[in-house]
Amino acid sequence: MSATPLVSQVKSRTAQKLDKASQSGAIPPLLGASHAELTAWVLTQGQPAYRGKQLHSFLYQRGVRSLADISVFSKQWRAEIAEIPIGRSTLHHRSVAPDGTVKYLLQLADSQIIETVGIPAFEGRGEISKSRLTVCVSSQVGCPMACDFCATGKGGYKRNLSRHEIVDQVLTVQEDFQRRVSHVVFMGMGEPLLNTDNVLEGLRSLNQDVGIGQRSLTVSTVGIRDRIRQLAEHCLQVTLAVSLHAPNQALREQLIPSAHSYPIEDLLTECREYVKTTGRRVSFEYVLLAGVNDLPQHALELAQRLRGFQCHVNLIPYNPIQEADYKRPNRDRILAFAKVLEQQKIAVSVRYSRGLEADAACGQLRANSAEF
Ligand code: SAH
Repeated sequence: MSATPLVSQVKSRTAQKLDKASQSGAIPPLLGASHAELTAWVLTQGQPAYRGKQLHSFLYQRGVRSLADISVFSKQWRAEIAEIPIGRSTLHHRSVAPDGTVKYLLQLADSQIIETVGIPAFEGRGEISKSRLTVCVSSQVGCPMACDFCATGKGGYKRNLSRHEIVDQVLTVQEDFQRRVSHVVFMGMGEPLLNTDNVLEGLRSLNQDVGIGQRSLTVSTVGIRDRIRQLAEHCLQVTLAVSLHAPNQALREQLIPSAHSYPIEDLLTECREYVKTTGRRVSFEYVLLAGVNDLPQHALELAQRLRGFQCHVNLIPYNPIQEADYKRPNRDRILAFAKVLEQQKIAVSVRYSRGLEADAACGQLRANSAEF
């Protein structure tokens, strides 16, 4: 990440946090802290500054779960700091889908459970790619948005995740797969732009501490008024994905309750500003629901609405959930929808979700389905 406003703002916020915490004697979990913050912290412990670099490397590169495991620290100091929390979760459940996607239920310090998904990419002939490993992270415990087709929303909302809980999810997948994570998408449980501060801090850490390129980080949002604008002000190079799901206001309101108070035109205006400010195109996600929003006329209306917009449309065929009666359109309908967009010169891809068999696909995440 270059020296953008994001870095300085996030740095000052997190530095304030650690300062406040050390004044009060309570130390927040270390994960998510930058090299500079960790160095400042080791100095408060009466240690030389180079210990900050060692701590950084053991936290993010080696993925230690306890400060007692940092072998380069003296035995005595290790014993003193052994109880200071790093912020790692514990594995509550793990399941593997036939396509190699792994779903994790992770237990947090307050016993809340979140879901994270590890998605290895396939190369030709069905071999798992060694280079691409995507993690789908949660940004909240549950979700308050209550979109009609999404299992997470049906379960209600508990709380925002902290930065360490965001970073931990990526380190957990890295540890399990024994290789580096290349991409992170904020498409797990929750609405990231209702938790902007922690998501921004998480993004900073994933980029600068864990070492994942900004362009390989994607934030997916259903759209919260003024928050896309706020994100744009940070001039990030991360990818913005917006869950549109409908070509007009009336249909969008049927599917997404929050659309009532945030009209589609206002949302698209903020997205246009995002493109202008960041120079990055926006991805629009569109869940295809048979007979609801998947007709050729919907595709045409969508194309008209997005004409001249620097964007890409990702069509996501609906993944069934118990609590809703929607159906996934058949292949011909999906391809016909995509074709209309293509003919109208709108960049489009069909994203068949991975991990369906493990209930790990888009919209199927919930915290209470431990058995598969
Ligand atoms: N709250 C954020 C991110 C979480 S969901 C958002 O709305 O973008 C990630 C994507 O999965 C969103 O586009 C969401 O609309 C989609 N999704 C939700 N339920 C789905 C389902 N049952 N089938 C397919 N996609 C779904």
